[in-house]
Amino acid sequence: MSESHTTAPLLTVEGLTAGYGGVAALDGVSLCVGVGEAVALLGANGAGKSTLLRAVLGLVPAGSGRLRFAGVDLGGLAPERRARLGLGYVPEGRRVFPGMSVRDNLEVASFAGRAGRAAELERVFALFPQLRIKAGEAAWRLSGGQQQMLAIGRALMGKPRLLLLDEPSLGLSPRLAAEVFATVAAVAAAGTAVLVAEQSAGRALAAASRAVVLRLGRIVHDGPAAETTPDALRHAFLGHPVRRP
Ligand code: ATP
Repeated sequence: MSESHTTAPLLTVEGLTAGYGGVAALDGVSLCVGVGEAVALLGANGAGKSTLLRAVLGLVPAGSGRLRFAGVDLGGLAPERRARLGLGYVPEGRRVFPGMSVRDNLEVASFAGRAGRAAELERVFALFPQLRIKAGEAAWRLSGGQQQMLAIGRALMGKPRLLLLDEPSLGLSPRLAAEVFATVAAVAAAGTAVLVAEQSAGRALAAASRAVVLRLGRIVHDGPAAETTPDALRHAFLGHPVRRP
């Protein structure tokens, strides 16, 4: 199991397996995310990143292995219970409510009463000033990057302790993707741990303190983002050292 995190463990995954109709997608995955830590979950298309996030959330059944979050064994808990424990999720493809205003998109995601909701809204607007400016506009009018920020803001309205983000840069221009990753770093800096699945390693590494690489359902690298060099990544992705001509 990974012990390279520097803060107290928040999420611990041990020997997790999961699959679809007998086909293994995760084959004994172990990793930790520490309190307030930002971890990049990297890997090629089909490596198992989404399946790992979904298994942590209880959206895909885990075969064997153990999942612990905030000191609680997640085994057998329904997704809503896991959300209430402090797991937030932004699925691939954003999925904001296009016809609702930015403010309404955020407010419907809160578990709190009126006063708590206002405080959460303020916290999200402080992190994403662009959303404050657009608060009264319908979500479909936002740019792709702003919609991704709205999706992240909506997940933050539930006050998660760990935010699971699936491919936040998908379909965004390099400039908007860079903006989104700057906000991912800001979320972690504000104290919410982040586990962000990405194919585009460079940007995710810049926002994270640690990188975990999945290859064919197995962890093949787990180390500080600063030490996850292009050569280390190529090695992890390919499964053998890079040969120089
Ligand atoms: P991507 O970046 O494309 O989302 P990923 O790393 O997130 O890739 P997963 O989506 O977790 O990978 O897929 C892992 C494996 O499980 C792949 O072989 C994929 O084909 C398979 N898989 C994923 N979802 C399903 C499903 N609903 N039914 C059957 N097989 C699936």
